[in-house]
Amino acid sequence: MQTDSKRSALIVVDVQNGFTPGGNLAVTAADQIIPLINQLACQFDTVVLTQDWHPDQHISFADNHENKQPFETIELPYGTQVLWPRHCVQGTHDAEFHPDLDIPTAQLIIRKGFHAEIDSYSAFMEADRRTPTGLKGYLTEHQIDTVYIVGIATDFCVAWTALDAAQMGFKTYVIEDACKAIDLNGSLQSAWQSMLEQGIQRIQSTAILP
Ligand code: ZN
Repeated sequence: MQTDSKRSALIVVDVQNGFTPGGNLAVTAADQIIPLINQLACQFDTVVLTQDWHPDQHISFADNHENKQPFETIELPYGTQVLWPRHCVQGTHDAEFHPDLDIPTAQLIIRKGFHAEIDSYSAFMEADRRTPTGLKGYLTEHQIDTVYIVGIATDFCVAWTALDAAQMGFKTYVIEDACKAIDLNGSLQSAWQSMLEQGIQRIQSTAILP
């Protein structure tokens, strides 16, 4: 498959210390996809990175709620929120990109989750479903109509990003072998089901790499 380089963008989701082994919300073996992501990035003229970037008092941290443990849920005005271990706090090592990520050509970094009261899994829209990050405008102003998504985690930030992209009218691909999942209570299967129902294409990196 040949990507139309002028109209396609690669979105690299949350390849940060916090989500890789040794991080505060480590996803098993997530560092192993990084060399593949670096290779894929060479195939795109437009590459956008996202970076989870939380204030200390962020609402998604279990330890900011009394008697709550990580991976429990709470109800917020915008819906059900999973509580996470404290992770990717602004300015900390945990929030930095993984040192193996090597994409000097990336033009834009979208930092998300920086409002204390709202989480943000998606690169396009915060979890209240009302606050845009600006990424849609960036892509459309560059005449981009197709996005390819990789990164961490397949069943949360990758899936939410893909679902928003499709809903906003982008042709959307998720490169499965360049993603890693958390898989919390069946979340991976249900994420794929939602994505496939919305017409998102599930592909492997061999479809892109020469
Ligand atoms: Zn987060």
